[in-house]
Amino acid sequence: MTTGARAPFGVYVHVPFCLHRCDYCAFATWDDRSHLIDNYVEGLVQEVRAALGQLPAVTSVFFGGGTPSLLTPDQLRSIVELVPLAPGAEVSVECNPDAVDAERLAGYHAAGVTRVSLGAQSLCTHVLAALGRTHTVESVVRAASAVRAEGFDSWNLDLIYGVVGETLDDWRSTVERALDLEPPHLSAYGLTVEPGTPLAEDPARSPDDDDQADKYVLADSLLGAAGLVSYEISNWSRPGHRCRHNQCYWSQGDYRGFGCAAHSHLDGRRWWNVRTPERYLALLDAGQPVVAAGEHLDAAQRRTERLQLALRTSQGVPSETLDTTGLDDLVERRHERVVLTLAGRLLANEVATRLR
Ligand code: SF4
Repeated sequence: MTTGARAPFGVYVHVPFCLHRCDYCAFATWDDRSHLIDNYVEGLVQEVRAALGQLPAVTSVFFGGGTPSLLTPDQLRSIVELVPLAPGAEVSVECNPDAVDAERLAGYHAAGVTRVSLGAQSLCTHVLAALGRTHTVESVVRAASAVRAEGFDSWNLDLIYGVVGETLDDWRSTVERALDLEPPHLSAYGLTVEPGTPLAEDPARSPDDDDQADKYVLADSLLGAAGLVSYEISNWSRPGHRCRHNQCYWSQGDYRGFGCAAHSHLDGRRWWNVRTPERYLALLDAGQPVVAAGEHLDAAQRRTERLQLALRTSQGVPSETLDTTGLDDLVERRHERVVLTLAGRLLANEVATRLR
């Protein structure tokens, strides 16, 4: 259903299932619980229904995970059709290249999906293996062409750079091959080592900061030359293809998360659901709240967070909020705002310490 448009409001739906656990992943997802998917979707429907009275017109919905493309189109539809969508709302779903084909994509489109995000990560076979991914370069190419053929409003390719064994030429080849697939939006993330992952247990596989910086600069140059503009540190898009859901996060907007481990934010109050799907389902069964904990941000914390998020975007921050002394190469003034340069994007955390 759709209702009249209001301020941006996002809905996030967490799908905590994967067919295989990638070496670097610390997300709340499990590769041995596919048998729970049907019950979990029923749980999501129950949780969304119970929250309907609290949802304003929703401008974006994001199915993330995990691997949301393990849901059938009917399962996805059972959730989307409950959400009070604003006219023209964006509905995104993260897809594993192995888990989608033309039929599934057509089903998602018919269920209301407007935007697909393909987790390609690399277009080099040995880099995919080094990341512990099980899909192939061919499956990315096949999935991308199926997404293009289905005619979604927009779509994204996710890439990861910096795994040990990936040369600068490998990365150049990945970005060039990604551009050949003509995505209107591309996200590129430096590989990070998360505690508790197989990657963290092997220091020899830790990414190198200088290598990642070189790859970031190369990506920005290749993507810029192809007409994709940086609008957040890790995100580039063609005009009209920015991800509205992420923009809601970056502008400190309100959003409601559904499913285990999902986070919500409403006017400075943040809360999150219990982490495992079993606990989530047990609490729903018992008629108990699924919230694990929450926190209240005071005005000063909210301001700091708002500026930190804005600094990472092409919008930048009001010039009076940043001490720019000695930061000449890292920031530039645009009217009354200060925006990170390319060099500044590489050192964004350091620049953020100068916010005032
Ligand atoms: S497919 Fe994505 S969510 Fe699943 S284990 Fe791999 S990185 Fe994590």
